[in-house]
Amino acid sequence: MSGPRRPDGTQIDKEAVRQRYLAERDKRLRPDGNDQYLRLTGVLEHYLDDPYTPRTGREPVTYSVTVCVVGAGFAGLVTAARLKEAGVDDVRLVDKGGDVGGTWYWNRYPGARCDTASMVYLPLLEETGYRPTEKYAAGPEILEHCGRIAKHYGLYDDALFHTEVQDLTWDAERSRWVVRTDRGDAFTAQFLVMGIGPLHVPKLPGIPGISTFQGASFHTSRWDYDYTGGDPLGAPLDRLADKRVAVIGTGATAVQCVPPLARAARELHVFQRTPSSVDVRANRPLDPEWFAEVATPGWQQRWLENFTATQTGVAADEDLVQDGWTDIARRIRARILALPPEDLTPEKMRAAFEDSDYEKMEEIRARVDEVVRDPATAEALKAWYRQLCKRPCFSDEYLQAFNEPGTHLVHTDGRGVERITERGVVANGREHEVDCIVYASGFEVGTDYTRRAGYDLTGRDGVRLSERWADGMRSLHGTYVHGFPNAFFVQPTQGANLISNIPHNLTESGRTIAQVVRHALDQGHAEVEVSRAAEDAWVDLLLTHPGMLITSPDCTPGYYNNEGQDAGLRGRLAVGYPAGAAAFFSYLAQWRDAGTYEGLVFR
Ligand code: NDP
Repeated sequence: MSGPRRPDGTQIDKEAVRQRYLAERDKRLRPDGNDQYLRLTGVLEHYLDDPYTPRTGREPVTYSVTVCVVGAGFAGLVTAARLKEAGVDDVRLVDKGGDVGGTWYWNRYPGARCDTASMVYLPLLEETGYRPTEKYAAGPEILEHCGRIAKHYGLYDDALFHTEVQDLTWDAERSRWVVRTDRGDAFTAQFLVMGIGPLHVPKLPGIPGISTFQGASFHTSRWDYDYTGGDPLGAPLDRLADKRVAVIGTGATAVQCVPPLARAARELHVFQRTPSSVDVRANRPLDPEWFAEVATPGWQQRWLENFTATQTGVAADEDLVQDGWTDIARRIRARILALPPEDLTPEKMRAAFEDSDYEKMEEIRARVDEVVRDPATAEALKAWYRQLCKRPCFSDEYLQAFNEPGTHLVHTDGRGVERITERGVVANGREHEVDCIVYASGFEVGTDYTRRAGYDLTGRDGVRLSERWADGMRSLHGTYVHGFPNAFFVQPTQGANLISNIPHNLTESGRTIAQVVRHALDQGHAEVEVSRAAEDAWVDLLLTHPGMLITSPDCTPGYYNNEGQDAGLRGRLAVGYPAGAAAFFSYLAQWRDAGTYEGLVFR
């Protein structure tokens, strides 16, 4: 029999598993979709306060620059770095955080690590001469690397931190962007780089009573070490020894912060709506001698290309990175390659993909039984959906944490937490009294770009980006938008859309943008803008995308699939290059190297 099998060799009853997936999805579908979450405004605004860096006063900045980069996370840093390499010297970073780092500035919760191997996840390693110490580097090492990039390229010199952009307007007469901020800054920039990241607006569950809780509470992206003790480097959270703590949410963040909490708290209650799939992590130190052998000139680019090829199913002789992501892809590829030539039809290939998914998920569920001692808890921690319906997680400590005597899983079977009271958290009709609530409830994703930014962009002829994108994003390569001259969007959608290694999308974008800006400056052009025709043609190409598994109707809701709601045209445009990430990167390199920048109009 060639059907999918469990790790013990028995046959998987595909139809029974599929029915279970559908039943679990149905429990979780809800009509309010993204609207179920709360924005952190009004009485909840304090959840956004920066616990890491004191905010200091400064005079407003009014002098102009060649490039303003909004966002000092990976997107802004790598683009600014490439601009500096291209000889564009006055580049100003603006960020709402107190330093560079973006996601890694904010997410300092205990246990934070990258989930993609450091050698491909950390950008500009070769350029900065840095070699990560572990296969999956810890948050502080990644944050330090962000600072290293900023120092190496002189990006601190003119940076504005703790500064929120409030308005971005194109001034057609001067061919400049006018930037205004909450610090009273008002300056112009010839070019604008938007590197604001997809996951920077924390959200809370929309449940009654959140503001009535009398104990301590914070979102994981604003960790309160004053309350918990410990530090992001791994010192124990020693102030929790006599505390009862609740964690709400069981996504990738909770999978990382639950183990240190379980070790430290007197009691830990983990409130689960949907279990994550948690595969093996197998972290290890990177041997400097091995690294010295590997790190011959051009090594990181070779590794990046190898990872993307392996991960997206393109043939690669060798899997250099060998992490959880490439493992998923290698299995799928092996199943497809095992098909006889006459069966290489899209339908049979999809079925082979599905079989490999059933096997992988059975393995992941079997692992829960192996690790978690209490059978009822183990049963409740099993994920019943296809692996890529939600963000896959990797940990060798999370499931184990439920064996700690003080750690309790509160399984709500898809219903979630009902209410917060003055004293604690209500789920399954029962109140759990706690001293502290940690919201591991994630970030806004499916909402409008301008809502997440917190301001609109006003382009040529007073047209706003929110109007231009009212029916969905429109761009060339995910970077250039008609009507918004000299503005560049650094993000994966409508480009490679490589989710397994976000920084690779950003470094390729940054390299390309730097070349386009250099070209405009060298040729004395005041403006560069994508033509309407080129943007339309790119959008038409995107609409030929076969659709992604994550929008498959049997997926459980989450931010990957717009909380299970059909996003219509918007959803169909939230895709990448139809031929895949590796093909996009080759296409982009050719487009860039041709030097004609087809589709862009220079004036
Ligand atoms: P997620 O959005 O993935 O998780 C939010 C969690 O909150 C989910 O488990 C959700 O349940 C739960 N939740 C929401 N409402 C309720 C409720 N009313 N009651 C109980 N639970 C509720 O956020 P994360 O911060 O975990 O992760 C966001 C993303 O950030 C990841 O997907 C990943 O891309 C990235 N990340 C990357 C890391 C890395 O690379 N190392 C580490 C951490 C995060 P449900 O599933 O039912 O919606």
